[in-house]
Amino acid sequence: MKITITIDGWSSCGKSTLARQLARELHYVYIDSGAMYRAITLYFLRNHVDWTNPDAVEQALARIKLEFVTNHKNGQTETWLNGENVEYVIRDLVIAEKVSEVASVKEVRDFAVSRQQEMGKNKGIVMDGRDIGTVVFPHAELKIFMTADESVRVRRRYKELYEKNPNVTLEEVKQNLARRDYIDSHRAISPLRQAEDAIVLDNSHLTMREQLEIAQHWVKERL
Ligand code: C5P
Repeated sequence: MKITITIDGWSSCGKSTLARQLARELHYVYIDSGAMYRAITLYFLRNHVDWTNPDAVEQALARIKLEFVTNHKNGQTETWLNGENVEYVIRDLVIAEKVSEVASVKEVRDFAVSRQQEMGKNKGIVMDGRDIGTVVFPHAELKIFMTADESVRVRRRYKELYEKNPNVTLEEVKQNLARRDYIDSHRAISPLRQAEDAIVLDNSHLTMREQLEIAQHWVKERL
């Protein structure tokens, strides 16, 4: 028997790390829903799409093809936009600055959510994001809501971004996380919130091994 596992929570609290770990252990598919919003934002920025104009958004979405392709060198799933591997570029702070605005547009959410539901229709999936347990898979068997202290989250994301761009500052990263969390939890459609039946996992003081063991225990209980 296969189940559906959803992982929601604040920006940079390690959702994708845990989702990857679980998918690897269980031989499930891992889908990074945030990557979809990031790739759409990249397309809108490159093509000067005005995301406050619903017609322009509809037309642009009709030209977007998103795929998750496994990189056989490292076994990781990467995001492709219209035949181009955009996994690296969508992690840039330039995208992070705009993604929450784009992700609050109704047409964008409808587009992404219907694809996410299609990808998860046969279960055996771990998907992370902001509205996965509340909107995308409200009947998921295991819903995890992740959190971590703000200072821990800022340091983790800073380290990641610094490796790519040493000009990034801790303050910029802190501002970006705070702004995204604010927009994501206050938007009108599908705001970030903990599903009533979600279990909270605070990983501020956990190692990767420890967080995996806790989640594996929850999976076992549901199988
Ligand atoms: O998970 P990640 O930080 O890459 O997500 C980037 C952004 O995409 C979030 O800040 C949020 O605005 C949006 N997002 C969303 N719903 C999801 C996943 C991500 O609105 N399910």
